[in-house]
Amino acid sequence: MVQILDGKATALQIKDEIANEVRTLTRQGQRPPHLAAVLVGTDGASMTYVANKEKSSHEVGFTSSVYRLPEATTEAQLLDTIAFLNEDPEVDGFIVQLPLPRHINEQHIIDAISPEKDVDGFTPINTGKMVLGEECFLPATPMGICTLLGRYGIETEGRHCVVVGRSNIVGTPAANLLSRKGFNCTVTLCHSRTRNLAELTRQADILVVAMGKPEYITADMVKEGAVVVDVGIHRIEDASKKSGYRLIGDVKHSEVDAKCSWVTPVPGGVGPLTIVSLLQNTLLAYKRRR
Ligand code: NDP
Repeated sequence: MVQILDGKATALQIKDEIANEVRTLTRQGQRPPHLAAVLVGTDGASMTYVANKEKSSHEVGFTSSVYRLPEATTEAQLLDTIAFLNEDPEVDGFIVQLPLPRHINEQHIIDAISPEKDVDGFTPINTGKMVLGEECFLPATPMGICTLLGRYGIETEGRHCVVVGRSNIVGTPAANLLSRKGFNCTVTLCHSRTRNLAELTRQADILVVAMGKPEYITADMVKEGAVVVDVGIHRIEDASKKSGYRLIGDVKHSEVDAKCSWVTPVPGGVGPLTIVSLLQNTLLAYKRRR
């Protein structure tokens, strides 16, 4: 019978652990960790993500600040804000919510973030350290996937893990982390040019899907007893819901789940762990700065 990798419950547990640690720090007279976020423009999804990060920060007792900049902000103006945050001694870590408006070069912005405050783990320094297996800030979503597998005691050693998607923020770092010592998976990384995708996904003991394609992975693409981690998030209209929409993933759960040993639901799987990873990185940044 399929079992659920419950991201929501795991996230609550970890938030509780962080909140306890913050309470101890503040009781000792120290200031709480401070996570800042920079939001450029008014993209609906980005505003929701930043609001969730702010809410989670408050829940664990962090100080949180959001720099809301207009859509017309120039690259130079955004670089000024980043330089300010890099220097601000009261800020332990910050994120720049992506995507940025098209007139701003995202890589220039990421490159400008101080690696010591890069709690999203996106800068070249942190990416390089991750690949070398050095201590660093890991990117939040792959870190969340690893946390979830670890907390549920999913056996990974020597197992064949197929990752579908090679983005810099999810697929590529997830493949890297799961192949490293500690997890010891044998990893296959697939992308849009992969031939015979289904043939590969069917071989996966652990299937991590980060394609951005709604319900693309169907039952015939999954091995009986596989562990399936669905990273995808898509909003689709649903008049029966109060909000007018519901969330679905990259996996067709209605037919795939019955074949799995473990599966992450959408919502309530990887998503909550992504925010928690950001909080864990911020706490780490805070400790390192002291
Ligand atoms: P990207 O669009 O950056 O990357 C998608 C990847 O999937 C690419 O590498 C692409 O290949 C590959 N791909 C697309 N179509 C196919 C196909 N038919 N066969 C094989 N590979 C394919 O997406 P992200 O990595 O940023 O995000 C993936 C999903 O995860 C999205 O739904 C996103 O919303 C969600 N997400 C969820 C998070 C969470 O917290 N739960 C956090 C971040 C993302 P190629 O490189 O060749 O183009």
